[in-house]
Amino acid sequence: MNQHIDTIPVWDAYKSDCECPLCVLAKKNEEEYVDNFLGASVMEPDRRVEVNEKGFCRRHFKMMFDAGNRLGLALMTDTYMKRTIEKLAENARRVAAAGNEEAKKNFIARMGKKSADIPACADEILELTGRCILCERLNTAMDRYVYTLLYMYKHEAEFRKALASSKGFCLDHYAQVMKAAPQHLSGKELNELIETITKIELENLNRVEKDLEWFTLKFDYRNRDKPWGNSQDAVERSVNKMRGGAV
Ligand SMILES: [Zn+2]
Ligand SMILES: [Zn+2]
Repeated sequence: MNQHIDTIPVWDAYKSDCECPLCVLAKKNEEEYVDNFLGASVMEPDRRVEVNEKGFCRRHFKMMFDAGNRLGLALMTDTYMKRTIEKLAENARRVAAAGNEEAKKNFIARMGKKSADIPACADEILELTGRCILCERLNTAMDRYVYTLLYMYKHEAEFRKALASSKGFCLDHYAQVMKAAPQHLSGKELNELIETITKIELENLNRVEKDLEWFTLKFDYRNRDKPWGNSQDAVERSVNKMRGGAV
């Protein structure tokens, strides 16, 4: 991998003094993808074929809708819909056949098991709607950033210090780093990383929770004239700490 290319954005994210540096990277990547998908690549045949097969999740459809390029989104969505309708034809034929079989059953048979084909057809549709080309790209990118982070932890003393004095991660990224750690570190190094991320995660969850609690207490008239402290944006920080990049 291009280690030297990836370490720069990781360092930049750590310098931004945020609640989760991996969320900063995810947001930056997501915005680039949305731009890119609505831009030149609308006309790239290979990209279009991939979009037609996978489509986008609700979050990424919304991001593209909000980006304002209605024609780009319309072109992509149109061929994606056409392809999906093609795929549904066979599914619709099977589910209709299963329904017909049910209709033919006599009173006794109706008491028994219903056709497994109906929920199976529904599962096939859910499988289609569960895919997202942007989520797939983002997951690959985030795996690479987590790997880079662990590589930097192993090889750069400066980065170990930056990590130890950071505000931890959102819960999802905390778990992602924890899960990847044994693949890239071992022995004392692994133990040290686990100790560090666990300590900073709990400390910082507590810090944000205290800010959030003070936010709620500020609504008590007795606290009206007391200072907000760090609590004014505590709701967004708490939500994002619990579910990275939510708001
Ligand atoms: Zn995060
Ligand atoms: Zn998505």
